[in-house]
Amino acid sequence: MITEYESTLKEIRLKRKEAYQLDFPILLCLALGLVSSLVLPAFAPFFGLAAFVAFYRKLVKAARILCPRCNEPFGTNSNIVLGFGTGNCQQCGLALYKNKS
Ligand SMILES: [Zn+2]
Repeated sequence: MITEYESTLKEIRLKRKEAYQLDFPILLCLALGLVSSLVLPAFAPFFGLAAFVAFYRKLVKAARILCPRCNEPFGTNSNIVLGFGTGNCQQCGLALYKNKS
């Protein structure tokens, strides 16, 4: 009964993990921000902001993956995403991580 949801749950776990990994666009923004703070300090906040936006978009995407059981966003359906949500679907409570089997 759990297996039918497992592939989507796996995807949610993966996306949550990926959101916290520094990928190329974020690293590029941070690197440019660092260079900019030495050369053109006025532009440094812009790159910091761009890095944050790139991270935030991944976070929102991960939080909005639909729950395989109830078809509602698994993490949150609020407009202001502050995190992935918990280990359970915010709508139906489906567990993201299996407890002791
Ligand atoms: Zn659900």
